[in-house]
Amino acid sequence: MTKPLLPAGDAAGSLREAGFALLIRERRPVGLDELAAATGLGAAATREAVATLAGAGWLDVADGRVAGAAGLSLATGPHRLTLGGARFRTWCAYDALGIVAALAVHGRLRTACGQCGIEIALTFRAGMPDRSDPERLWLAEAGADLRGSFCTPTVLLCGDEHGTAWAAVHDGRGRLLDLDAASRAGGADWAGCAAAARRLA
Ligand SMILES: [Zn+2]
Ligand SMILES: [Zn+2]
Repeated sequence: MTKPLLPAGDAAGSLREAGFALLIRERRPVGLDELAAATGLGAAATREAVATLAGAGWLDVADGRVAGAAGLSLATGPHRLTLGGARFRTWCAYDALGIVAALAVHGRLRTACGQCGIEIALTFRAGMPDRSDPERLWLAEAGADLRGSFCTPTVLLCGDEHGTAWAAVHDGRGRLLDLDAASRAGGADWAGCAAAARRLA
């Protein structure tokens, strides 16, 4: 029996973190009954909150199961992230850096420069990328639509030149970070998810 992760007040945050933790542990889509047990939310409240979150792009749901949460997905996303031999996708490049940093694990990321499409492969040790340069992360400003206005433009660029070009395409609505800085910022943003993963391990 697992204890609830968070006070019942924050159902959305609790479901997001529990979904993430169970995806890491199980490496398969997670049933709503499992989420209800992990969060302590009732079955009806879980069903309702999952539908709302999925509608806003905060969860991937397939065949009635949660297949993606907090950027980590078994279903959608252009960035390929391998963690402990398990293959996942992430909705944006910042998800990948933040998730690995917060979990402080080894991993591999394969993605492409948003500007020119050249493949970018990074190896992570204890959460940090094997280099800080020359690639850059474009961290888009959060907009009303999570996937469209934030995740889709939040990609890696092969270097400063394409970073600057990408920033211009997106009217400067975001900022360029080197890989170390992006990993550190993301590690803080995914700390709650990582704590849930440890708790439900
Ligand atoms: Zn994202
Ligand atoms: Zn490029």
